Amino acid sequence: MNIKDIPIPQQLQKFPLFHGYPVHYTVFVDANGKPNFKVMHEHRRIECFNKNLCHLCGEDLGDGPFAFIGGPMCVKAHRFVDGPMGIECAEYAAIACPFLSSPDGKYASIIPVSDGDKIVSYENVSNVRPSKMALVVGRSYKVQRNGYDVHVSGPHANNPYGGGQLVCVVGQYSRCDWNIMPSSEEK
Ligand SMILES: [Zn+2]
Repeated sequence: MNIKDIPIPQQLQKFPLFHGYPVHYTVFVDANGKPNFKVMHEHRRIECFNKNLCHLCGEDLGDGPFAFIGGPMCVKAHRFVDGPMGIECAEYAAIACPFLSSPDGKYASIIPVSDGDKIVSYENVSNVRPSKMALVVGRSYKVQRNGYDVHVSGPHANNPYGGGQLVCVVGQYSRCDWNIMPSSEEK
């Protein structure tokens, strides 16, 4: 599907477009103003965790619902590296993001370099897309680091480069949709 044919949700329309893709809230933009959709803006990501903001549009998620995207292991464990997102933003990402909407998508395996910016690579996150991915919706989530709860606005949450990766632990799902993104598995 051509990116221009996918309607952009209202929450994402405030962002500039780059080759048809909204340069959303957590996209990393280098010193020359060029966005890199394969890299997240880590301070914005932490801010979204701290303030309960949608990781795509940056708007307050309030009491939810909270949408997450992940592969079978994430879904089974209720643990997600990305998110939370509003449902409309997550649905848009599932359809529009080249990595998510392609069954053999890959993340950047080469760590980009940018003057004046620190690029962090999480070694324990695979750069190969799982064979199938789901969009799940939960009524609640909490943020953990190394198995411990990270309290929103707490000192740990503001330390983006230290002490391991933030993970969203999601409560009971009200929706678990395996069909919105293509699968490379035989059906
Ligand atoms: Zn959003």
